[in-house]
Amino acid sequence: MNNILVIGSTGQIGSELTFELRKRYGNNHVLAGYIIGAEPKGKLAESGPSAVTDVIDGTHVAEVVKEYKIDTIYNLAALLSVVAETRPRLAWRIGIDGLWNVLEVARENGCAVFTPSSIGSFGPNTPHDHTPQDTIQRPRTIYGVSKVTTELLSDYYHYKYGVDTRAVRFPGLISYLTPPGGGTTDYAVDIFYSAVRKQTFSCPIKEGTQMDMMYMPDALHAAISLMEADPARLIHRNAFNVASMSFAPETIYAEIRKLRPDFKMEYNVDPLKQAIAESWPDSMDDSAARTEWDWQPQYDITAMTRDMLDKLEQKLATE
Ligand code: NAD
Repeated sequence: MNNILVIGSTGQIGSELTFELRKRYGNNHVLAGYIIGAEPKGKLAESGPSAVTDVIDGTHVAEVVKEYKIDTIYNLAALLSVVAETRPRLAWRIGIDGLWNVLEVARENGCAVFTPSSIGSFGPNTPHDHTPQDTIQRPRTIYGVSKVTTELLSDYYHYKYGVDTRAVRFPGLISYLTPPGGGTTDYAVDIFYSAVRKQTFSCPIKEGTQMDMMYMPDALHAAISLMEADPARLIHRNAFNVASMSFAPETIYAEIRKLRPDFKMEYNVDPLKQAIAESWPDSMDDSAARTEWDWQPQYDITAMTRDMLDKLEQKLATE
């Protein structure tokens, strides 16, 4: 990776991934792609180059890739699960028509492409416990349908045209820097904001609903180390299961209460989020990622909770 383009650099993952890549590869080698209305701000804007990069306009993506001599694209443009259900046509245009444009540009310019999939690519008849790497993927949300298509289209470009496409299936991601963009697992971030602000948390997900989650530093590590991995070892491409922790609302609540004993939570279940959550895996088997590119997470629920509370407290104190 010499010159990297992060499309969707101002989102929850993109904002942190851009910083991490700039640390590793140099500020001027990582271009922050954004759309009008979601411009980079503060340190993200100041620390390196940025350019408008809308995946719906393929010609424009090609111009950006040529101008900055891009060889690696992290394509993070998407509508997340809950938002996508309310705007399915737009979700498809960004997630699939947009991906097609990115893959075409990559084919013409010899770029490697990372386009994340999700636990949302699984459906109600997928085995929920230790969900295998290769299994039934029949999701019933537009988000899930677009994620399965993302995986297939990315594999197609690899096998047909030799484009170096790779991806992981991210679980729900927990971070303190940029708020989540409207997904089913957002509650696992929101609960920390309530705990730090000493407010009662209203949980939209039912007690006992288990979902895979991951702390952002592990997610960034997964995205970068997969793209750095030796291609000769990769049997799979799009996309690898990656896992580090799996919990239900009462488990994360109990974990936070170990450190903030006065914290309170009540349930106020959102039927749309609950239905999506129930169709997703309880826990994933990520042995293929461990074998093929040495995936190894650093944070379990206890380490994540401690770090998240500390960092969020510092962040909110300065706002
Ligand atoms: P986000 O909603 O926070 O960010 C998405 C970014 O895409 C934003 O910066 C937005 O401005 C940009 N965007 C929207 N339309 C665009 C367009 N037409 N062209 C270019 N950019 C456009 O999402 P995120 O949480 O950062 O997720 C990034 C990717 O990771 C998505 O594919 C998402 O499905 C996947 N993922 C995220 C999670 C999670 O918990 N955050 C979990 C699993 C998978």
